[in-house]
Amino acid sequence: MDLGLQGRTALVTGADSGIGLATVKLLLAEGATVVMSDIDQQALEAAATTLDAQEGRLHAFAADITSTSSVKALKEQVFDAVGEIDILVQGAGIHGPDGLFHEIDEEGWQQTLDVNLMGHVRVLQAFLSDLRSGGWGRLVFVSSEDAVQPYDDELPYCASKAAILSVARGLSRTYAKEGLLVNTVSPAFIATPMTDEMMDKLAKQRSISRDEAIQAFLEEERPFMELGRRGEPEEVAAVITFLCSDRASFVNGANYRVDSGAVATI
Ligand code: NAP
Repeated sequence: MDLGLQGRTALVTGADSGIGLATVKLLLAEGATVVMSDIDQQALEAAATTLDAQEGRLHAFAADITSTSSVKALKEQVFDAVGEIDILVQGAGIHGPDGLFHEIDEEGWQQTLDVNLMGHVRVLQAFLSDLRSGGWGRLVFVSSEDAVQPYDDELPYCASKAAILSVARGLSRTYAKEGLLVNTVSPAFIATPMTDEMMDKLAKQRSISRDEAIQAFLEEERPFMELGRRGEPEEVAAVITFLCSDRASFVNGANYRVDSGAVATI
């Protein structure tokens, strides 16, 4: 199936690892020009060297999405390199502090919301005019199963992901008639540096290996993940890439779960 991405230009945040990097790879394979962005220039450049792209089809610019000036600088760099973008994938995110409500201070809440909600708002404010201008645009946010199924020991993360789901739904009403379609994907427990870190912490607490921690977490915390394993970043990237494509021309305001059944209530 031709996704119709040849000649399109995409910006992907959170692009030096995990779901973002897998999405960059797929968008490149489908013929798009891609700008990858993440917070750390060195890690970004290292990730870019692993990718196979024709001259001029891949660009990498670091930006901290908690900083308005950094996002403005990114906008200028992107425009100078590729002009206006057609596609924005907002994958940057942090897990934020673990703990029950009474164990997390205001700073923990603010840091998490500043990246996972306001970071995405800042990036969209900078690039919205691009996405609206050509009569064809795609905006995909990476939310989480936690948005609709909050866990009481990671509430800042859950709240930030629920907030972005709400923002996306609202945006999907505002710009659809201009050709800008807005959707979300909600993964659960994907094998990325984010969950590696969570599993290493659990492994240390229990003096077990990472693989044993993954099994314990699946059995105790995610019994409704019916496939009984962590997902792969590529399995999320495939859905994101479809939503970025011409083939998703009647999909708007949707939330695609990529979670093997993790949301128990649906
Ligand atoms: P990841 O590899 O850690 O990707 C997240 C990226 O965001 C990292 O490269 C991180 O950079 C970057 N980032 C953090 N703060 C930033 C900032 N202020 N400015 C710019 N970039 C920043 O983990 P991932 O799992 O692929 O996460 C991608 C998205 O999927 C996230 O939004 C996450 O919440 C969501 N998600 C993941 C899972 C899962 O199971 N993995 C499940 C549901 C949702 P550093 O690493 O340098 O900090």
